[in-house]
Amino acid sequence: MVADDLAAALELVRRRGLRVTASRRLVLEALFAAAEPVSADEIAAGLHGRLPTSDLTSVYRNLETLGELGLVRHFHAGHGPGRYVLAGRAQREYLACEQCGAVESVDPARLDAARDAIRAVNGFEASFSHFPIVGLCRRCAALRRRGRHSGRVSVDRALTPPPPDRS
Ligand SMILES: [Zn+2]
Ligand SMILES: [Zn+2]
Repeated sequence: MVADDLAAALELVRRRGLRVTASRRLVLEALFAAAEPVSADEIAAGLHGRLPTSDLTSVYRNLETLGELGLVRHFHAGHGPGRYVLAGRAQREYLACEQCGAVESVDPARLDAARDAIRAVNGFEASFSHFPIVGLCRRCAALRRRGRHSGRVSVDRALTPPPPDRS
């Protein structure tokens, strides 16, 4: 469910039979104002002292409700807590380096081939939008490749047969 502006989002909350509480409005305002996906901590810090109950508890509770309404979604850009974004905002998918922790985003369309292949083989609708794809970033992958060529004997090199004797 996508709401173009705060008024539309609040209208949707009402139409689903929920009250527009002060904290719900503040959390939505914060999400509309945010240029990038934000964590619950960041939202709570921005609203510090303006929420009725403990900031973070209130923010989490509201994010959960807004998620159930389909107005907000979240993803994990690494091992950390979820980052929240309005459902209508451009979707990105994330690559997280398990070596250095760097996170970068990728256009979801780039993963279409992988999704299609998984559907064809497993009949499974893969989703890469909640958790990041983990692996090695360009830098760490290059370091690892270099490590392999700098004296450390790798298993596959040890198993490579010697070149044929041409003498
Ligand atoms: Zn999650
Ligand atoms: Zn890395």
